[in-house]
Amino acid sequence: MPAKCSQRKRVLTNIALPAVTRSQRKRMTERAASAVEVQEVLRFENVGHIKKFIASAGSNSNVSTTLEHLTIELQNSYPLRILSTALHLAPNLTDLILILPTPFPGRVLDGLVFVHLQLLKTNLPHNRITTFLSANPSIRFLDLGPCGKTHTCPLKSANLSRIPDIRCPIECSLTVVHLGAVRVRADLCRPGTVVSTILRSFPISFFAVYILSLQFNGTDDDILASIARFVPMVRILRLWERADYVDSHRSRRSYSDG
Ligand SMILES: [Zn+2]
Repeated sequence: MPAKCSQRKRVLTNIALPAVTRSQRKRMTERAASAVEVQEVLRFENVGHIKKFIASAGSNSNVSTTLEHLTIELQNSYPLRILSTALHLAPNLTDLILILPTPFPGRVLDGLVFVHLQLLKTNLPHNRITTFLSANPSIRFLDLGPCGKTHTCPLKSANLSRIPDIRCPIECSLTVVHLGAVRVRADLCRPGTVVSTILRSFPISFFAVYILSLQFNGTDDDILASIARFVPMVRILRLWERADYVDSHRSRRSYSDG
């Protein structure tokens, strides 16, 4: 039996596979590229999706110029060069959602300019997007994840005054929220943060804000009064109590138990 197997193996290894010529390889690449349709909306969840897009854009420029809404949400590691190439191939983006796994890459967005970009949502630390925000003044909707390891929010150096719709960590709101903001969503990102203390530290009220969505911890007994001072003209108010961010050093708010 073993002799039979080794004999079959020898026979198989002697079969000469037909060589793929350069023109055949080109046709195969073009066929694979044409498999991606020209679309306004694309979502990349792995490196294969990104490579397919790059190949398609190489054979049909409409693939890249038509793309307006791009979501890149990767779970596993990826070659930064491939991600960067794909982003440079999409000049007409209006919406960019970029969610990357840690460790975060260097300044992957630096050098990119999308003249029509309206929305940026990303989990990149704030020090990785300051240059990009300055280079893309058309952004009107900004949705940010945690700030990163810096002591003070790096967005202090970015001019965000043109962005009316903002979502950011409450800890960064002192830097990010400005007088022109009309819609603000602030998330708790660090345990022990007392939202009312942050809201009261603003030197002014924000009369333009008419929609406010806010996370707060359950021991924050001054939350409603501080909101009234922070956004006196608010029309739509959404509050989320985060039990996992309770500050154990403060007593529970007086209205919590009726
Ligand atoms: Zn920040």
